[in-house]
Amino acid sequence: MSLAPLPRLIKPVAQPLGLYFRAGHNDHTTLSQLFAQGQRSYYGVVFDATRMDRHRELLKEAERARLECILDPCTQATATIGGYSEKIERLPWGVGRPHVVEDFEGSSQTTLMSKLADFAVRHRFSQVLAPTHYIRNGSDPWLFADVESVCQLRNRLDRSGGKGIEIIYSLCLPYASFRDETQRESIITRLDGVPVQSLWLRADGCGTDSTPTALRNYVAACRDFNELEYPIVADQIGGLPGLSLLALSAVGGLTTGLAIGERFDASHWHRPQKGRPYMAHPRVYLSALDLSLDPDEAKVLFERNLRLKGLFGCKDPDCCIRGTVDMFEKPARHFVVQRIKQVAELGQHPDSLRPAVFLDRYVRPTTDHALQLSKATGLDEALQVRFAKHRHRLDALRLLLSKLIESGQIALHARIPKTRAMREGVPTRSYSA
Ligand SMILES: [Zn+2]
Repeated sequence: MSLAPLPRLIKPVAQPLGLYFRAGHNDHTTLSQLFAQGQRSYYGVVFDATRMDRHRELLKEAERARLECILDPCTQATATIGGYSEKIERLPWGVGRPHVVEDFEGSSQTTLMSKLADFAVRHRFSQVLAPTHYIRNGSDPWLFADVESVCQLRNRLDRSGGKGIEIIYSLCLPYASFRDETQRESIITRLDGVPVQSLWLRADGCGTDSTPTALRNYVAACRDFNELEYPIVADQIGGLPGLSLLALSAVGGLTTGLAIGERFDASHWHRPQKGRPYMAHPRVYLSALDLSLDPDEAKVLFERNLRLKGLFGCKDPDCCIRGTVDMFEKPARHFVVQRIKQVAELGQHPDSLRPAVFLDRYVRPTTDHALQLSKATGLDEALQVRFAKHRHRLDALRLLLSKLIESGQIALHARIPKTRAMREGVPTRSYSA
């Protein structure tokens, strides 16, 4: 007797949630090593226009891996007294002084957009962050100039061989305006219909240490911005606040630096530079606690309390084979691998179940671990105070998420950006966590 073949049950592959890394000064080493080891399970890399020489090889590797290669033209910094620098001055769209709105109007705007389009085409970028600026509110003159710049840039890209290069609108603004419904309304009106493929939100003062109130306001803002029907990415917001935005489908993706830059803070742009700019170094990410510490601080903590080392040292064989030794020696690599895994794991759940899964599997264990940490012995007074604050913030975050889920009013359904492989129609086999 022959049996009719049973139909094969094929589980549909969920679209991965967006994750992009902003490459800092020394991050080409970490990202290149990860490429060499086959780790490319994220969407793309953001390249600072002032680091093209330093990151040239990384750009080629990201291109070969079919990841998005995204140009940041640094225009948000170029128009500020503290963000302007000699490196920025040397960019083709530099004008020998901080940019003013008039540079982005009329014939000057056309010239600058031509230079930017040529730069993006010459370096084979797949996406460009629009040359936007830090806007104070919805009636800031920069907003009007920026929207026109985007239209001009699209035009110049199309005419100079860059038809396939997508534009991302980077909306950079203070948190006070971001949370203000009236300001949002006028910004959304201006952004409606601009020729971009996605919207990145860069809210000054928001990030990994955001309070539950700030997170609730961020979710409310995303609800409004989702009306524009662009995929939305939360730029430089990490930790549980960032992952919460993904879990609640308030945004479709996140960007972050490598173990730094999980919070966007533009305060240094608004005051004159004093001396050489400070370069932040990667911190050691304790994923089970949603906490980052200076390497020396983490070393002392684990040396004084072996129980904490056992509980919170990396035991992931794909990440740190030598445990805490690798965590301390390569904190950026540890961070990248852990963040990729967190986002990939979240993306495996349908968006209707994701908030509850996130609460149960991420937030609850993290608050429990934070409680254990706050009771640990051998901590100096400063660390005790800091860990207690961290624990209270996490507890409040857990409460907020529980309430949001119980209220049943979190159906946000943010669009998720397409991966470059999806856009270009090549097999997506390489995208796996
Ligand atoms: Zn690790």
